[in-house]
Amino acid sequence: MVDKATGPAPTRPLLGITTTIPVEVALAAGYQPLDLNNSFISDPDPAGLVARAEELGLPPTLCAWIKGIYAWCLAHPEVATIVGVTQGDCSNTHALMELLTLAGRRLLAFEYPHQRYLPDLARQLAGLAESLGASLEAAEQVRRELLPLRRDLARLDEMTWRSGQVSGEENHLWLVSASDFEGDPYGFHDRLKAFLRQARQRPGQARRPRLGLLGVPPIMSGLHAALEEMGAAVVYNEVPRQFAMLPPPAGEDPDLTAQYLRYTYPYDVFHRLEDIRRQVGLRRLDGLIHYTQTFCFRQMQDLALRAGLPLPLLTLEGDRVGPLDARTRLRLEAFLEVLS
Ligand code: SF4
Repeated sequence: MVDKATGPAPTRPLLGITTTIPVEVALAAGYQPLDLNNSFISDPDPAGLVARAEELGLPPTLCAWIKGIYAWCLAHPEVATIVGVTQGDCSNTHALMELLTLAGRRLLAFEYPHQRYLPDLARQLAGLAESLGASLEAAEQVRRELLPLRRDLARLDEMTWRSGQVSGEENHLWLVSASDFEGDPYGFHDRLKAFLRQARQRPGQARRPRLGLLGVPPIMSGLHAALEEMGAAVVYNEVPRQFAMLPPPAGEDPDLTAQYLRYTYPYDVFHRLEDIRRQVGLRRLDGLIHYTQTFCFRQMQDLALRAGLPLPLLTLEGDRVGPLDARTRLRLEAFLEVLS
């Protein structure tokens, strides 16, 4: 994929995003998107950022992702413009945006309509394009240019659940990074193609049990690796796969509005459930792990997932940044024993 809109351009202004937005609009407007979650968690000292936010007065009873993002933004004034998703992601985003406005940043709001109503989403896309100074036609062109990259991400995902040549952890890292393509879709696609070439040389793997990981990305490190050490395979990373907007197997979305309407994460839990049920069958999953973040409103959806999914489900809760703790390891081992 080589093009003017998405090619490497180190002088592009940075655009912070609080979660996945229609990134095609940001690229069409000439911005370099930067997912603030990825920036925080890949910082050399993410735990220090959370501690810094608490020193500044954010409460201990607030999600650590929000505290980390806040402190990371304060340390990076070069990210002058930020798009906050005020409907469909996080109940804390409004207050986070207010604090970042106080810190002198330009904040723009984007909403995924809860009812998943197409005209409302189309209006949001038009508003975002106008605020960023892009035309929707240019954003559509970027969408078409990104399709080969998104198709390669779909190949990578398939190599996780079909042949086992890509590990669950690798799958997670590639898909979660597709919310901003590490700021440079062109370079990202080159790295992805090199990775796929190398992964195709690997022998296939058929580990059991086959697991799906549901929920927001875990804040602790080492979850996938620990499961694989225990002999299991994570062959489905629900939310990262959604972030990556993999083109549907049959055909492709006709336009941006359709693509972001198909995205399940920001709407009600029932569309998520439909998608998860399909993947449970397709990927022949034996069990599910639902990761929830301490102090996150999405913990409530655990009840709906348990009620609506037909196989054993372990709920894991994480709070702080850091390696997987011994108690969680024990719970994982016990769950795998039940599955076997
Ligand atoms: S884990 Fe929940 S509370 Fe924390 S940032 Fe994500 S959506 Fe918000």
